[in-house]
Amino acid sequence: MNLDDRVAWAFGDDEPTQVGSGWMSGTISVFLGVLAVGAVACFYVPELLTSPDVRAVLPMPIVRTTIQLVIGAGFLLGFVSLLLRRRKTLGVTGVALAMSAALAGGGNVPYEGAVPTTPVYLGLDWFLLNLLLLAVVFVPLEKVWPRRRGQSVFRRGWTTDTIYFFVSHLLVQVSTLLTLMPAQVFFDWAIHPAVQSVVRAQPAVLQFLECMLVADLFEYTIHRFFHKSRWLWPFHAVHHSSTEMDWLAGSRLHAVDIVLTRGLTFVPLFVLGFDTGPLYAYLVFVSVHAVFIHSNVSWRFPRWVEAIIVTPRFHHWHHAIEHEAIDRNFAVHFPFIDKLLGTYYGPEGQWPAGYGIQDSDVPDGFGAQFVYPARVPRRSTDIA
Ligand SMILES: [Zn+2]
Ligand SMILES: [Zn+2]
Repeated sequence: MNLDDRVAWAFGDDEPTQVGSGWMSGTISVFLGVLAVGAVACFYVPELLTSPDVRAVLPMPIVRTTIQLVIGAGFLLGFVSLLLRRRKTLGVTGVALAMSAALAGGGNVPYEGAVPTTPVYLGLDWFLLNLLLLAVVFVPLEKVWPRRRGQSVFRRGWTTDTIYFFVSHLLVQVSTLLTLMPAQVFFDWAIHPAVQSVVRAQPAVLQFLECMLVADLFEYTIHRFFHKSRWLWPFHAVHHSSTEMDWLAGSRLHAVDIVLTRGLTFVPLFVLGFDTGPLYAYLVFVSVHAVFIHSNVSWRFPRWVEAIIVTPRFHHWHHAIEHEAIDRNFAVHFPFIDKLLGTYYGPEGQWPAGYGIQDSDVPDGFGAQFVYPARVPRRSTDIA
């Protein structure tokens, strides 16, 4: 039994799931309960569970109030579910989690003062913050404008992708280090102060657009290598193994894929020396845009918008099962790169019929996918 099935076995039942059935209130209650318990844990051992960079920018009074609201909503929705639903698993779990968070001190756990610095820390706060913000934005979007109607938040592989999301955020210290390291160690020689001062003298908006462009040119090249090299493809095949697209599906990335892609994409940004403002704005943009282009959202954009910026339809074609779409649409921001280099595909107004890899042998589950590239026999990637 895989993890999807185990969670369904533990929490699922045969009762209806429509509005008024206590399913949605119970599910949201459990979600909020998990967030609340995680947030309170961060207050107890901030030096181990939180990232100094996130701590430095989070407005604590707002965070504390939010935790109290999350606990209150978790309680309330848990009780609603208990009233409405015959099977009480969701409601009881949601109320138990909210109660644990409240009894442990909720948003009032004292922590003011200097947090001791530790050489190693986890980004649990980074995970909880992103999970809350992205879920609040994208789950309703996918419900109101679904590309595939009826696709559940709990579609096949959702637990696997949640683990990817969890691990990549938890290990934020390692991934940041590995993103910066190749540029700092190997490309220090390429820095020219005169070039950097010209770059920084430009307006912030222009620098932001240039970040997008140079990063995308590098990303396009690396991405294409991942598809073409029989050594690299198994690592990237993990990302393509999702058979359903949604806001969480883009998280499915093998560690080697993340490290190589981010590390090399950062090189031009480092060498050109963009100002921190436009650079951080770009990093925020790229993380939200990457989630958006995988989402199960059917928004139709005017043709000129689709020509300028990558939309969900463009990237969904990159994941398409159709033969004509294989090795197409490598860019992540600017479709013109694929058009110029002859790798564009996107029949007007149409969406793929399915997603994934034909005859895929990528296994299910985070652990099995982690070791999959080491086990796969080296073969031609004409199926890539
Ligand atoms: Zn790809
Ligand atoms: Zn993708």
